[in-house]
Amino acid sequence: MSAGPAVVMRVVASAYAVAEKAGAIVRKVLHSGELGIVEKTGANDLQTLADRLAQQSICASLSRRFPKLTIIGEEELPAEEIKEDLIESGHSEEILQKTCPAEYSGLKEEELVVWVDPLDGTKEYTEGLLDNVTVLIGIAYGGKAIAGVINQPFYNYQLGAGATLGRTMWGMLGLGAFGFQLQEVPGDKRIVTTTRSHSNKLVMDCVDAMEPHEVLKVGGAGNKIIQLVEGKASAYVFASPGCKKWDTCAPEAILHAVGGKLTDMHGNAYCYNANVKHMNSAGILATLHHHEYYVSRVPQSVLQALKSD
Ligand code: AMP
Ligand code: MG
Ligand code: MG
Repeated sequence: MSAGPAVVMRVVASAYAVAEKAGAIVRKVLHSGELGIVEKTGANDLQTLADRLAQQSICASLSRRFPKLTIIGEEELPAEEIKEDLIESGHSEEILQKTCPAEYSGLKEEELVVWVDPLDGTKEYTEGLLDNVTVLIGIAYGGKAIAGVINQPFYNYQLGAGATLGRTMWGMLGLGAFGFQLQEVPGDKRIVTTTRSHSNKLVMDCVDAMEPHEVLKVGGAGNKIIQLVEGKASAYVFASPGCKKWDTCAPEAILHAVGGKLTDMHGNAYCYNANVKHMNSAGILATLHHHEYYVSRVPQSVLQALKSD
């Protein structure tokens, strides 16, 4: 008797379709022209109607299908019932066809924690830097980010009409990552990618200490991890609190699935259990290769200012 696909594969397969639906919502709100911008903690911490609707869509769709999941999202949910047209009940058949890595095949729904950033790069979304925007759904087990889905709603938007807009990438430890072509930065150049809208002196001092050949300043945690796996950047360096667990869970799972590493500035792993604090207080250091080099270059001033959890 076949038991059917493993629970975690069913969750990832659904998360894939749910992230695509959220991406479509993010596009639709932009095209409506009514972004409904609200400041959360300040002018650099925004929320739009797209963040709110995508969050509702993702959380309601996943919890309807998998009621025992713990789902932690960036935005608050309304008290009233979510509108039916926000619910996605589909899944990726391709993901269901994959063989689940043996160590995850027996995981139960109630053992999984799902971290949701319905729209990463909100500031850039409001400024028209559309390819910086991603939808992030990360799946954690035993404190580890084990699988992730990233939808990039405006991928290809610069190509104009006729091009297929948007794409979805996913990955799982022990299986690999899909939906993009894994590439390395040519010639082992040190290209450091960092924030464009949440910078400060410590952040830039740390970037300089890496002795980069080139520095990129772009929005979004998801977007910066895409740069790492597509050979556009060698290291993502952000020596500041600000990123949260929902910013890093899905990107970390995809990066780790292809052999990369995401840690705090000390080189310590983050934990994604349901009860952890949301803030990644000790910054973000992520690489596809040579993680030790970048950890070794972090200045003492940064290590003293940012304590590991
Ligand atoms: P960035 O690289 O600046 O686009 O930041 C990546 C993610 O972390 C985004 O979701 C930001 O909103 C979040 N983030 C980083 N720094 C801060 C901050 N100082 N305040 C609020 N959110 C932040
Ligand atoms: Mg975010
Ligand atoms: Mg967000």
